[in-house]
Amino acid sequence: MATTASTDAVPGFRGTYFGRIKNAIISIMEGMSVTLGYLLQRPITIQYPDRTPKPVKDTLPERYRGILELDMKTCTACLACERACPIGCIKIEVVKDKETKKRYITRFDIDIAKCMYCGLCVDPCPGGAIRHTNEFEGSTSDVQYLVRRFVPPGERIEPAKPKKKEKEEAGAEGS
Ligand code: SF4
Ligand code: SF4
Repeated sequence: MATTASTDAVPGFRGTYFGRIKNAIISIMEGMSVTLGYLLQRPITIQYPDRTPKPVKDTLPERYRGILELDMKTCTACLACERACPIGCIKIEVVKDKETKKRYITRFDIDIAKCMYCGLCVDPCPGGAIRHTNEFEGSTSDVQYLVRRFVPPGERIEPAKPKKKEKEEAGAEGS
């Protein structure tokens, strides 16, 4: 003898055939009423980045840790930031001119693709040469563009002279 399966045992499939059609229509109408309600309201979301009332970076907190920047005019090439970075984002190379005995920075790279914005490199910088900005948009078509080079290839930059206090602190650390 043939038997018909009862849909009453299956959640969501209770009732008669026409009853289920009625429930489906009511359900769609309820959903659409919510959608239409939002259609008539001012949008809650905004289109980024071109339709924000002001640039997002201008709304960030003062101490926001964004992409690092470097002021080469105040960098003394003390290497404290390079030593402090736990994942080796910062690469500094310093050479000494044999004739003039002066030191020169030949490389100062920060790999912002690796950077985790922890700020550990910023704290030990004696003159505030390296600091976070409120810049956070780093998307690029090639990951190599995320290495910020502060000394152009083939050039060398004379570091700033350490201030007296910095020299004393460096001496105290060395002793
Ligand atoms: S913010 Fe942190 S991870 Fe980034 S360069 Fe500085 S120490 Fe390294
Ligand atoms: S800690 Fe500051 S002064 Fe020293 S190398 Fe880094 S940026 Fe330059």
